[in-house]
Amino acid sequence: MDCLFCKIIAGEIPSTKVYESENVLAFKDINPMAPVHILIIPKIHIDGANALDESNVGVVSEIMLTARKLAEEFGLDDGWRIVTNVGEHGGQTVKHLHFHLLGGKKLSVELA
Ligand code: 5GP
Ligand code: ZN
Repeated sequence: MDCLFCKIIAGEIPSTKVYESENVLAFKDINPMAPVHILIIPKIHIDGANALDESNVGVVSEIMLTARKLAEEFGLDDGWRIVTNVGEHGGQTVKHLHFHLLGGKKLSVELA
């Protein structure tokens, strides 16, 4: 499958990994929007949040727990944000489910 994040998981494209488990990978965003900008993804290919169902949603709880632990590790004691973009209107450019973990500054409150 021609998927950028599957290639990162396979090690075919380099990334700066910050966490890895059997099911989840976290690495630094190549174009950071905040001092801490980490992408957390499932290792199985899921197109995006639109493609979640009962069979694959379990990985999302591990992703949330990973976010909480990474926020602690990266010292985001004053707060952080987790975001997933869906589809064209949501601004999703990579069609492999990913969650942006953002922090390290006071983030914009603008959501739309
Ligand atoms: P989206 O816009 O789909 O929500 O987020 C995709 C994110 O992937 C963007 O923040 C973009 O900077 C990041 N990105 C795109 N290509 C690469 C890459 O090759 N390596 C890394 N580490 N991040 C990437
Ligand atoms: Zn993929």
